[in-house]
Amino acid sequence: MAEYDYDLFTIGAGSGGVRASRVSASHGARVAVAEEHRVGGTCVIRGCVPKKLLVYGAHFAEDLKDAQRFGWDVPDNCNFSWSTLRDNVFEEVDRINGVYRETLTNHGAEIFDERAEVVGPHEIRLASGRTVTAKTILIATGATPHVPDCPGHELGITSNEAFHLDDVPGRILIAGAGYIANEFAGIFNELGSKVTLINRSDVILRQYDHQIRDRLLQISMMKGIDYKFHAEFKGIEKTSAGCLKVSVSNHEDIEVDCVMFATGRVPLTKGLGLEHAGVKLDDKGAVIVDQWSKTNVDSIYAVGDVTNRMQLTPVAIREGQAFADTMFGDNPHQVDYENVPSAVFSHPPMAGVGMTESQAKETLGSVKIYTSDFRAMKNVLANRNERGLYKMICNGETGQIVGLHMIGPEAPEILQAAAIAVKAGLTKQAFDDTVALHPSMAEELVLMK
Ligand code: NDP
Repeated sequence: MAEYDYDLFTIGAGSGGVRASRVSASHGARVAVAEEHRVGGTCVIRGCVPKKLLVYGAHFAEDLKDAQRFGWDVPDNCNFSWSTLRDNVFEEVDRINGVYRETLTNHGAEIFDERAEVVGPHEIRLASGRTVTAKTILIATGATPHVPDCPGHELGITSNEAFHLDDVPGRILIAGAGYIANEFAGIFNELGSKVTLINRSDVILRQYDHQIRDRLLQISMMKGIDYKFHAEFKGIEKTSAGCLKVSVSNHEDIEVDCVMFATGRVPLTKGLGLEHAGVKLDDKGAVIVDQWSKTNVDSIYAVGDVTNRMQLTPVAIREGQAFADTMFGDNPHQVDYENVPSAVFSHPPMAGVGMTESQAKETLGSVKIYTSDFRAMKNVLANRNERGLYKMICNGETGQIVGLHMIGPEAPEILQAAAIAVKAGLTKQAFDDTVALHPSMAEELVLMK
């Protein structure tokens, strides 16, 4: 009889946990997964997937207006039904949730639809009270929204609840100026809300190149989003009229119908029992792991946002894959975190890979910058005064591209392909040698000055 009930017990069925479990099972491991919410995790259930669908839905506001310039007879005020969009998005989320469950069970992994906690290096207790054992435990519980500890914070929502609103808020205040804040500011603004975005500092999306994020700020303000900087949250009060009065430092009180916190996400380790097994956490509560995703306890590993390395779905998936291949597939390999592309699905979207201009200047002796500042053809005919910006950062000595950043329609789609060239270490010359594909926006990549 086997020494343990399972070879692998995964806690958390999000992107990282599902990939690790499915691949481990396909390598022949006896696998079980516990999930207290829904299989699919943040990305599928309350993150990337439903958010992107809302972004598509919201962008029709602009497309319908622009359609008139292209000869279509579209009324000035088109009707929009939030409940139709919301419920159709839920349907799609349900479909993917089903696919994720199937992918686990088809590979022989057992699913426990309940919370699980660690009680020892090889022992897990399920919410039902049952205790199981596993040779290896994988923590893949992800992260959860951080909510500032201010009076009345319970009156606000986070991105988790934003998908479930009864209606589009008339006025919404979004706290934070990162990915989630800018993406939801764009969605609600397109859908007709009066959006105010506040941040404690005076920058948005601080990890992106300054010129690209400045362009987003400029376009977003032009579209009507109101930004307030150096604004620390002081508190929220409900008024007699049922509105929310928000007080922030350095600014007047702001009255809105909805407050949304998008002030970062914290690793979900609270109450997981990791201390019973002696697993070390960092000061943010993230599980500390080595480059094999192993904790300080030999039988316990962790992948994805719970480790707070790079909070991105494709990275969690790679970590899960590398873990499974290494542990059960006789194919040890580690994740390469160099030149990971990322995008912000704002209106318009932005995307980037590699170093920003300031990072390159700090790291390399000599840097050459090339840009293309252009108005997309479609925007010209639509009379839309919105310019795209592409920026290439090269090593001044070798010409190798060390960073590529862009804002404009379809920027994430274009950048994903261009990221291959950056990852492959190509030079500006290789882009210059490539004939433009005309007329396209992507051709700007090979025409940069
Ligand atoms: P971000 O880290 O992107 O932004 C956090 C924002 O909140 C910043 O503006 C930051 O301010 C502010 N902030 C942080 N801590 C506090 C605090 N204690 N009080 C007040 N303000 C605070 O976080 P998000 O929540 O937007 O997203 C979480 C993560 O999820 C992202 O880092 C990203 O990796 C991932 N994500 C990725 C997406 C994508 O790939 N498209 C989409 C959504 C999320 P300051 O600028 O001063 O630091």
